[in-house]
Amino acid sequence: MPLYEYEICNGDCKACGGRFTLHRPLTAAELTQCPACRKPVRKLISAFFTPKTYRPFSIGQANDAGFTILKKESKGEYSVHKPKRNAPGT
Ligand SMILES: [Zn+2]
Repeated sequence: MPLYEYEICNGDCKACGGRFTLHRPLTAAELTQCPACRKPVRKLISAFFTPKTYRPFSIGQANDAGFTILKKESKGEYSVHKPKRNAPGT
C-alpha cells in the first residue's frame, strides 16, 4: 500500500502537527481534509512513490503486456523489435 504525505494548506493542526503521512490504497478517494481537524490538506509529492511516475520496464515485459517496441535502426528508420525466442520446429 503506497504511503502518501499530506500537509495542511493553511495554519497548523494540533492533532497532526500540520503534516502527516497515511497509508492509502490506490483505489481510495483523494484525501482533501485532515481526518483529525477537517482542515484542507494537499498531497505532497513523495520521493518514494508518485502514482504518475513513469516506470520503465523491460522489452520482454512490454511485449507480454501487448506493447509493440520500435527499435531504432540506422537511416532514422524504425523496425518492430521482437524479443528472441526459440521458435518451435527449428
Ligand atoms: Zn489536522
